[in-house]
Amino acid sequence: MERESLEMDVVFVGAGPANLSGALHLAHLVAEHNDAITNGIREGKSLGEVQIAVIEKGASIGAHILSGAVMDPRGLAELIPDFIEQGAPLESPVKEDHFLYLTSKRAIRSPITPPPLANHGYYIVSLNRLTAWLGEQCETAGVNIFPEFPGAEMLYDEHDRVIGVRTGDKGIDKEGKQKNNFEPGVDLLAKITVLGEGVRGSLAKKLVQRLRLDVGREPQVYSLGVKELWELPDDRYPAGRVTHTLGFPSDQWTYGGGWIYGMQNNILNLGYVTGLDYRDPLIDPHAEFQRFKTHPFVAKLLDGGKMIRYGAKAIAAGGMFAIPRLYADGVLLVGDTAGFLNAARLKGIHSAIKSGMLAAETIFEALVSEDYSAKSLASYERRVKESWITPELRRYRNFHAAFRHGRWLGLANAGLQFLSGGRAWGILNRDHQEPGHEAIRKISDYGYQGGDPAQRYKDLRFDNKLTFNKVTDVYHAAVAHNEDQPAHLHVLDPNICVTRCAQEYANPCQRFCPAAVYEMVSNGDGGSRHLQINFSNCVHCKTCDIMDPYQIIDWVTPEGGGGPDYKGM
Ligand SMILES: Cc1cc2nc3c(=O)[nH]c(=O)nc-3n(C[C@H](O)[C@H](O)[C@H](O)COP(=O)(O)OP(=O)(O)OC[C@H]3O[C@@H](n4cnc5c(N)ncnc54)[C@H](O)[C@@H]3O)c2cc1C
Repeated sequence: MERESLEMDVVFVGAGPANLSGALHLAHLVAEHNDAITNGIREGKSLGEVQIAVIEKGASIGAHILSGAVMDPRGLAELIPDFIEQGAPLESPVKEDHFLYLTSKRAIRSPITPPPLANHGYYIVSLNRLTAWLGEQCETAGVNIFPEFPGAEMLYDEHDRVIGVRTGDKGIDKEGKQKNNFEPGVDLLAKITVLGEGVRGSLAKKLVQRLRLDVGREPQVYSLGVKELWELPDDRYPAGRVTHTLGFPSDQWTYGGGWIYGMQNNILNLGYVTGLDYRDPLIDPHAEFQRFKTHPFVAKLLDGGKMIRYGAKAIAAGGMFAIPRLYADGVLLVGDTAGFLNAARLKGIHSAIKSGMLAAETIFEALVSEDYSAKSLASYERRVKESWITPELRRYRNFHAAFRHGRWLGLANAGLQFLSGGRAWGILNRDHQEPGHEAIRKISDYGYQGGDPAQRYKDLRFDNKLTFNKVTDVYHAAVAHNEDQPAHLHVLDPNICVTRCAQEYANPCQRFCPAAVYEMVSNGDGGSRHLQINFSNCVHCKTCDIMDPYQIIDWVTPEGGGGPDYKGM
């Protein structure tokens, strides 16, 4: 097969806030440098035209971006100091902060907002819109942006140095044969490749394993955020109001909490986070969110409203100890791919932007010195350590780990930790994180009789007004994949699904996937079943790759352009 090669200087994989900020900052640094040389202000050599590319698997920039989001503007203000004057799309400054503890019937308002959730001076944003806007800023600065181009494979030389990325083929049918419209992926060769694929990057996962970038680090742990946008009939929940909740419907062994943010035009943005290190094998994060909406406080807010959008995405919650080595020969990791999100604050946009900028400064130096080796790129890790990213993460460094001991100890630890600058729990009992999929218990160990999920969700009904089943919700994620292509969810040993997994966990993929991708269907013989993968529903949240107890699901990129369309999310 003839494959085209394109030579770039720098390729950014993934058009999220981290990489777009990196590409934009790099374009500015190069332009400034070249101008300074031309004007005789700086000594040295002009870099000439530096080819910077950003590739994105979504059909447009922002299509796959799902977040809360309350944004701490620190990162954006460093990247574009006059972002407000420049027209950055912001929904509203945060005007009110509320923190509620939910029992099954009551909402108890905390007299104080826990410091990590105090959002004064921040903005409610649609990260989908903000990202699209960042993409426009990049194009104006001369960055080449390629939507519908998934990074499918890393390219290495004979010394395991990263030399670029291969984009996905187009026009392969479900049997793996080439169709009439077949177009082979392109080899994008680059001096430096930056992986900003967001949480659980499919290329980053393999790169980290191959180059052993996680040696001596703790495993990453994750949560899953499930979200809807609602159109309300009136202004009962003003733009700029922020509410976070704890308690109902999570049980005390399940890390979880809700958010409710007021956006413009009476749009209510709400969602629920469930830790992907839950014990109960019958947990279904989508069902947890639906139950959240049945709480009297939330149901009243939604009364008479209409659900208009749906989406779900995993969140990297492991914090400082789970960050892998951030560089190797020819490659850097930024944003959620690196794990810079602060789980206590549920905030990662600001650090994603900052990490992109620090990567850009490192790359700029490497271009000037013409040294793209790991030794040269190591200065990126130093920059991250010396920036505000690291003290912020250090302060909350044991946050998630303590919740393994239940909600109350987790909360007590969070309080102590805040007061002690992150030392609590570390002092009492330095806890090592285990990968989340190891926390899930077997059906029989949990005391269930068989795997009928009704045992946990017996009161939950989908009434299509307040609560929706997964298929209805997925429709509101505007997901589209060409169905005549191989499934991009590779189950490495489907036999396990019908034997061990069925017996031990009652196939939890049917529950942890928030998009009804996995379904055990009857073989029509009165007893046996097989796994059906409805890959066209996939919202690219990565939960299956993370949470499968046998780690046999490998999420790879589908044909470019496939996936959700998270407009306004
Ligand atoms: C439910 C939820 C709520 C959140 N709430 C908040 C909040 O209130 N405030 C806050 O600050 N942060 C919040 N966050 C975190 C925040 O959204 C992230 O920290 C931030 O988006 C990280 O930016 P990123 O650029 O690293 O990755 P992402 O925003 O995930 O962007 C990655 C991009 O890369 C693309 N991509 C991935 N793999 C490939 C590939 N192989 N080839 C091509 N393209 C690829 C993806 O399609 C995507 O467009 C929340 C996250 C979630 C999931």
